[in-house]
Amino acid sequence: MDTNPCNIPVKVGFSVPSRVSRMTKPDATLVNICGVQVGGSGVVVIAGPCAVESREQLFETARAVKAGGARILRGGAFKPRSSPYNFQGMGEEGLKLLSEVSKETGLPVVTEVMDTRKVELVAKYADMLQVGSRNMQNYPLLKEVGMSRKPVLLKRGMMATIEEFLLAAEYILNQGNEQVILCERGIRTFETSTRNTLDLSAVPMLKRLSHLPVIVDPSHGTGLRWMVPAMAKAAVAVGADGLIMEVHYKPEEAICDGYQSLSLNEFAQLMTDLKKIARAVGREIS
Ligand code: PEP
Ligand code: MN
Repeated sequence: MDTNPCNIPVKVGFSVPSRVSRMTKPDATLVNICGVQVGGSGVVVIAGPCAVESREQLFETARAVKAGGARILRGGAFKPRSSPYNFQGMGEEGLKLLSEVSKETGLPVVTEVMDTRKVELVAKYADMLQVGSRNMQNYPLLKEVGMSRKPVLLKRGMMATIEEFLLAAEYILNQGNEQVILCERGIRTFETSTRNTLDLSAVPMLKRLSHLPVIVDPSHGTGLRWMVPAMAKAAVAVGADGLIMEVHYKPEEAICDGYQSLSLNEFAQLMTDLKKIARAVGREIS
């Protein structure tokens, strides 16, 4: 059985950048978000709304995902929207709510930063900085989050190859920040029935090539609420170190990404099912 992937070079047609490479560092990197470890034997679930919309929405959703077993809360305060006329996020007001709800629930929070000029501000409130798909190749931003001492959740660019993804992570490590989680969130293909094509083969590939933890976002990966549970279970089965999922207390009223957000009940049910999958592959939902 292949028990030691790090010592088996894979022929991938490119050389893996050195700091992120398993060849340089055979042991898995553990990313620590206020005491929650990602990259160890446990599978960590990150859940919450796409965007922070209101105090009630955030607090109700946060309490429910915590009760269901999520370890980290997600929620965007600065949203990358395709249309400039769509809701852009609550900004600093949203960050303040995130930090408040974090204190109440004890859940660390991850939120997106899109602008180098906002890294300091977002880092003041957040426990982990998210670099979104659209900014995976924003090199000044990668350098800036690399200089911050916060863990970074780096999402795969929707048109990025594995090589480009690893090179983007290398930018962050190069600045001295090794606390980086890679997130597969779906790529653009010719397929139109789903929002993106969730590339689950990226998980074993990235884990083999790199020592960094790998998590999966089945919400943006599919764009379809009903499909999220199936792909979340599949992600755990292929070896993901965690999941990030959109959950909303009233998905039909969500301002952003409601059609791919799980309801509170759906999330609770999924967590029960995920425990069984994790156990079957020798892990646990931590
Ligand atoms: C998000 O997580 O809300 C988001 C915008 O994700 P992505 O950057 O993967 O599209
Ligand atoms: Mn979203």
